Amino acid sequence: MKINKKMKLLITLVISTLLISIVIYYYGDNDNVYNEISYKSFLNYVEKGYISEIKLNDKSQLIGKFSDEKKFIIDNPRREDFKEYLLLHDVKVIEDGERDVLSQAIGLILFLVPIGLLAYIMNKNGSKQIEKEMAYMLEMDTENNLSDIITFNDVAGNEEAKESLKELVDFIRDPEKYIKYGARLPKGVLLYGPPGTGKTLLAKAVAGEAKVPFYPVSGSDFVQVYAGLGASRIRELFKKAKEHGKSVIFIDEIDALGKKRTGGNGHGSSEEGDRTLNALLTEMSGFKGNEGIIVMAATNRIDTLDDALLRPGRFDRQIEVGLPDVKARHDILKLHSRNKPLSKDVDLKKVALETIYFSGAKLENLMNESAMLAAKRRDKFITMEHIDKAYYTILVGEEKRDKSSISFEDKKITAFHEAGHALVAKKVSNVNRVTKVSIIPSTKGMGGFSLNLPPDRMYQTKKDIITNIKIALGGRAAEELIFGKENITTGASSDLQKATEMTLSMIGSYGMDNKVGLVSYDVILNSNLNTDISLMERTKELLDNLYRETMEILEENIYYLEKIAGRLLEKESIGEDELDSIIAC
Ligand code: ADP
Ligand code: ZN
Repeated sequence: MKINKKMKLLITLVISTLLISIVIYYYGDNDNVYNEISYKSFLNYVEKGYISEIKLNDKSQLIGKFSDEKKFIIDNPRREDFKEYLLLHDVKVIEDGERDVLSQAIGLILFLVPIGLLAYIMNKNGSKQIEKEMAYMLEMDTENNLSDIITFNDVAGNEEAKESLKELVDFIRDPEKYIKYGARLPKGVLLYGPPGTGKTLLAKAVAGEAKVPFYPVSGSDFVQVYAGLGASRIRELFKKAKEHGKSVIFIDEIDALGKKRTGGNGHGSSEEGDRTLNALLTEMSGFKGNEGIIVMAATNRIDTLDDALLRPGRFDRQIEVGLPDVKARHDILKLHSRNKPLSKDVDLKKVALETIYFSGAKLENLMNESAMLAAKRRDKFITMEHIDKAYYTILVGEEKRDKSSISFEDKKITAFHEAGHALVAKKVSNVNRVTKVSIIPSTKGMGGFSLNLPPDRMYQTKKDIITNIKIALGGRAAEELIFGKENITTGASSDLQKATEMTLSMIGSYGMDNKVGLVSYDVILNSNLNTDISLMERTKELLDNLYRETMEILEENIYYLEKIAGRLLEKESIGEDELDSIIAC
């Protein structure tokens, strides 16, 4: 665009007014020192008249001022009569977005006039880019770091990760100590592991322990929400962090930005991601390392990350955050029961034993669902019954309300199908537990379920995998055995999907098949080699064999199959003890 001298002057003028006005407008919020206080002490302060003002909104936390102008944060009680309560106690109430009227008016005028002018100019020149930038900058500034103060005490399990992060906290607090010894400081820390295992929580805890601000962003937002502005948002973020001094920048889902750039084809579509990623790498290399700023990132899939991200000087510290083992699950359950009225019959150790493969988030969800149930029924304590119910809800979804529409025929098919899974699980190995079998349909679309609890171990043996394949095939095999080949149903589709997946990885990834040997198909398929061993055929052959063996187990035990199915039709669901006693006699 062509800009003449006059225009240039005008733009400079507008921009500088704009900057000044932003400063004025946001002045009030610039000293970001907030004390978090509990709701209880807050009420205490209100009664004593120490609170001068509070801002109401529907966020999870609220900001307010003491009479001495110091700021504080409390959890939002979301009380209906909260405003009245405050007003009755002479606390000034500011509703969401409201400031005190005068500064608001001045701010608004100072703010809107230049924006209007600027928009006019830019529009004339056919670009709305600046407007967008402004909107985004504002958002950055209003986005407060009110993240509740989290410490390592709020994270259970994950001992290795915590240990390694404690060092980091020490570094943020006292970088000089490390520099004196010439130690190379980590610039970026990557937390990787399955979703819900506490990666975000750990990052927050680092900030909380080091008592520095926490700046969270999400990789997917850069691609989806800030389309076209990803790179500038990264620069803003770092600028903001540097202005503050010590801080923790946290990038969740970093894989959305830093996917492997696969030769050629990955290009074009992810140009935006590339630009954002480059901005991030540039910013990270710009650190001198003694500022006490740490960049943390999280991903569920470290294998898909661009190598550029993992090089020294970038995310050079990688910490695995895995699913919790029994002890960690017990600790997490205890942690999330801290403020809940548990009845004496609740055995969290037992719950921990039965929640294999549950992430921390799922465990938290379990305790919360249990509490909700108890509250709904106005029971005094949370009992094992509530926890049981919550457990199945989390695993298979809510029970369908209207069960009357299911025909007896369908119920019978479901009963034999589920009995098939359960029986195979019990007969094929003696370490499997089946904690519950049910033909109650769930809102997740399942006709019923058989809950199989495998032993808690780090590795799976070939035998374990074969066992699991047979259990998965047990449903279909029972249908065929009882109702005939012509009457098998669609109910087995997800079982077959699982069985096929397990067989395929057994052969192709784990080198567990005699015919295929130790060849890793993951490698072969990626190398574009033409192979003449047909993986598909071998998978089918193995699956067919395993299906035949599963069928044999059921044939031999058809007496028990009918008994379990009969009991299911009668009672709709049976527990572990009952199932074991049926099979024992
Ligand atoms: P991620 O970032 O790994 O997906 P989050 O940190 O967001 O997982 O975890 C979600 C929630 O699950 C946390 O806020 C917390 O309530 C609970 N949680 C997860 N892991 C743990 C843990 N190790 N200890 C305590 N709570 C946990
Ligand atoms: Zn099934």
